[in-house]
Amino acid sequence: MPDVTTPPFSIGLTGGIGSGKSTVADLFAARGASIVDTDLIAHSLTAPGGLAIEPIRDAFGDDFVQADGALNRAKMRETVFADPAQRHKLEGILHPLIREQTVKAALEAKGSYVIFVVPLLVESGTWIERVSRVLVVDCPEERQIERVMQRSGLSKEQVRAIMQTQATRAERLIAADDIVLNDGDAGTLPALVDALHAHYLVLAQQQI
Ligand code: ADP
Repeated sequence: MPDVTTPPFSIGLTGGIGSGKSTVADLFAARGASIVDTDLIAHSLTAPGGLAIEPIRDAFGDDFVQADGALNRAKMRETVFADPAQRHKLEGILHPLIREQTVKAALEAKGSYVIFVVPLLVESGTWIERVSRVLVVDCPEERQIERVMQRSGLSKEQVRAIMQTQATRAERLIAADDIVLNDGDAGTLPALVDALHAHYLVLAQQQI
């Protein structure tokens, strides 16, 4: 059940790295859904002048904020990697702000319904309760590796290491209400999105 702060009908879109979340979200946007991307929001909070910058300065010190006013990501990454207590401290600052800003964006959205893009939806747990349905963009792990290597220039081992920090394909599929299989020709995606979009429009009108 969605909580009172999210719209009555909303979708949580998730999938592993390189599965095609952004590609699929763009297709829904083209059909009139509003997309709220939690990664973009998280990033903007720690950009120059972002809402998390002063709380981070207070909690961690000036060294963690660069001269341009952005979070010093390299230093923070090193710090939270080495010390779970520091990671929790950072999450204690970021998570409420991400939640607040995603709700704000959803309430301001003008589309026929809202899709929250949440890469770690299955891992984080709380998102599952905040959305009406979970849509998983699914693809075999080999495809994920190929796409991310091509997009980012990371090695196979580096991509695998990131994937190990994420839920498995099976764990995501268990959490799914709906699935877009993105296992080949991207040309198959518009028809899959058309069908889901038609379904979501009906559900949104009924506020189910
Ligand atoms: P995510 O947002 O899940 O990380 P993206 O939508 O950014 O994934 O897709 C990862 C990369 O793979 C992008 O460069 C995208 O253009 C490409 N891609 C996505 N789906 C396909 C597909 N079916 N065939 C070929 N390339 C694809």
